[in-house]
Amino acid sequence: MNVYDGQRISAMLEKHGMTQTEDVKDADLIILNTCAVRAKATDKVYSALGRIRRAKKESALLGIVGCVARESGGDAFKRIPELNFVLGPQSYHKLPEIIKNPDTKLLNIDMSGLEKFDELPQITKSPTVAYIPIQEGCNHCCTYCIVPYTRGRELSRPFDDVVRDTINAAKTGAIEICFLGQNVNGYKYTDKNGKLYRLSDLIKSAAELPEIHRIRFTSSYPTEMTDDLIEMFKQEPKLLPFLNMPIQSGSPRILKKMNRPNDIGAYKDIVQKLKLARPDIQISSDFIVGFPDETDEDFAETLRIAREIKYINSYSFKYSPRPHTAAALMSNQISEQIKSVRLQQLDSLLNENQREFNISCIDREMICLCEGPDKTGRNLIFRTPYMQQCIVEKPNTEIQPLQKIKITDANKASLRGEIIK
Ligand code: SAH
Repeated sequence: MNVYDGQRISAMLEKHGMTQTEDVKDADLIILNTCAVRAKATDKVYSALGRIRRAKKESALLGIVGCVARESGGDAFKRIPELNFVLGPQSYHKLPEIIKNPDTKLLNIDMSGLEKFDELPQITKSPTVAYIPIQEGCNHCCTYCIVPYTRGRELSRPFDDVVRDTINAAKTGAIEICFLGQNVNGYKYTDKNGKLYRLSDLIKSAAELPEIHRIRFTSSYPTEMTDDLIEMFKQEPKLLPFLNMPIQSGSPRILKKMNRPNDIGAYKDIVQKLKLARPDIQISSDFIVGFPDETDEDFAETLRIAREIKYINSYSFKYSPRPHTAAALMSNQISEQIKSVRLQQLDSLLNENQREFNISCIDREMICLCEGPDKTGRNLIFRTPYMQQCIVEKPNTEIQPLQKIKITDANKASLRGEIIK
């Protein structure tokens, strides 16, 4: 979501005659597009602001947008007096106001609607992977999560607007569409005739576009994997055989405290249905270790489910207490030391799963999407249908962004492959 927001912010500022610079000292306008999901992310913003305020030109405007702006509100100006603007995730389209009135302090952390989508300029050149937000916010209120506070309650964009953005992305260079939302499979839009549209309808309409070859979506809530959506994995070959479906913990007791669906059997049933729909599907998850009151037995259940589902490409985090969340006030907070030990154990299991899966890909042929050159410039980086990184020696000839690649080698982090002519 932040990548998308960043692209829209640059496009908007280019319309105002600005260009990007890599050097803080050259910049007339400096924006930190921020994440507040864990304390570390917020801390990083403030330490970066400390550095930037000393390095920047005196006249340069400095501000934060996104979730830390929403979390901090007007306090941000007290912490960093040099700040000129603090704009929440639903109000960064107001940025041009600060360019017009550089002597004011601009604060807007409204969460009232999705008007930004109507105010932002249409994209005229799309990257090969187009991120298209379809909904924002979340109604689930997991007790650890700051997102309902920073991004607000769920709001789904009108179906026709999303279809228009998808067509526009396809016509301007996109090959892959990634539908985005904090609760993406909760997408629900009812038009004026009372017709209800779901994520499955958006997938169908994107799949009809000949320019679009790959479709994915993130991030999903397990119990909102409805049958119409699961069916898409069967019907639409363009939908990638890879799904991030976070479980967070394997312990029903902890899941209950997290206010997450805690029926592990029902979760496994969804995985089973997905496998029936698409036998080659792989699942990834997000995990939180060291949630308040998590015992060794609870954690062992997390290891067990990770081993059983054989998740690939997963993310794991130490629980981080966040303002405005219920879990931050719970008793039996877990020590950093125990969190670190558990994270290491879980990571080594997840890494092993990933390594095994990567090695199982050797000798397979896959259609992969080119992301561009690696740091050395000698290789190209591709993404497989499972979002693994695949490194290929750069050929002398021009290549198309989509290539059939034979996987020749693999380790935990990535694959190596050769382009098949
Ligand atoms: N569905 C949301 C979740 C984003 S946060 C979205 O896509 O916007 C991504 C992951 O961060 C979550 O799945 C969870 O595993 C982790 N996370 C969220 N809050 C956390 C916290 N307080 N401490 C540690 N990890 C957290």
